[in-house]
Amino acid sequence: MLPILFRVYSPILMSWGIRNGLITASVLVFVAWFILSLVMGRSVSCGYTCPYGALQELLGMHLLKKKPRSLKADKIRYLVFVFFLIMVSYAILKVGGLQGVDLFASKGGPQLIILVTIFIVGISLISVLFGSRAFCRYLCPQGVFLTIGSKLGKKIKITSLHLKSDQDNCTECKLCDKFCPMGLNVSQMVTKKIMDNSNCILCGECIKKCPKKAITYSFGAED
Ligand code: SF4
Ligand code: SF4
Repeated sequence: MLPILFRVYSPILMSWGIRNGLITASVLVFVAWFILSLVMGRSVSCGYTCPYGALQELLGMHLLKKKPRSLKADKIRYLVFVFFLIMVSYAILKVGGLQGVDLFASKGGPQLIILVTIFIVGISLISVLFGSRAFCRYLCPQGVFLTIGSKLGKKIKITSLHLKSDQDNCTECKLCDKFCPMGLNVSQMVTKKIMDNSNCILCGECIKKCPKKAITYSFGAED
């Protein structure tokens, strides 16, 4: 879907629009994703629909069999997020506010295609060097938006999607660790009974791969 979706959502599309005082479909999609993240966490975009996440997973996980390295670099994405917010605010002030709508960035022309191409090559390289979904894990500002939405949903105890574990069933085979595209130490999460992790995109791979059904989806208010 990437050739179609590149004009619908990406951080590049959103930034390009804002820089030119235009609301693009990407802004609207991410507002919707943020609202949905209160209930669905990061699954709505990162887990189920983001083509850039899929691209990184294909390259890093399936082609190169390379999981994201557990560099203690996860926090960088919060810095990127703050930088992103500052740049967006500055751009809005500079152009005097958002003044129009160009849903599919038709005014973007070749400049936008070049920017999106650089973005695609960039995230592909990051995945090749640092493993599956390394961009999601270490750099993506939109993932932080969804993490905030997810935390907010839990704070106000809204009914939401999350993982549930049963450590009595776990044999510590570590298959869940092997297949987690975000490189999480899932078996440890199960043993410690702490399944809430801001890097979990609720993709369900660990659920599918666990032979003992020690991990399940749960939909409800978390304790
Ligand atoms: S795959 Fe299942 S049984 Fe194996 S370590 Fe993970 S939770 Fe435990
Ligand atoms: S912990 Fe499970 S649901 Fe979360 S990202 Fe890893 S494989 Fe996906």
